[in-house]
Amino acid sequence: MNLKTTRRLVTIGFTVCIFTSFIGIFFGAGNPELSNYMLTAGVISLLFTAAIIMKWARCPWCGGSLLRKFFKLEVCPHCHRNLETGKKKKGHGGRGRK
Ligand SMILES: [Zn+2]
Repeated sequence: MNLKTTRRLVTIGFTVCIFTSFIGIFFGAGNPELSNYMLTAGVISLLFTAAIIMKWARCPWCGGSLLRKFFKLEVCPHCHRNLETGKKKKGHGGRGRK
């Protein structure tokens, strides 16, 4: 799966999770059944999102994990390639240091 698609799915997953939690809290105040239902849906979407991150939040070039700063990363911290283009980062510091 494409990294862009993964990011989109993770965004959707988190949005759904927050959304259902809010509905559960605000609309479920006088309705415990709805509240339970929404909170369950929230937990499921959170687990779903976590599963996507575990499985697909990886560098397409070296397979290294991108769990940290998943949304901010543009360059892989392991192989220093651009995550979308695969180009190596230009400039100093690319060689010799490990
Ligand atoms: Zn990499």
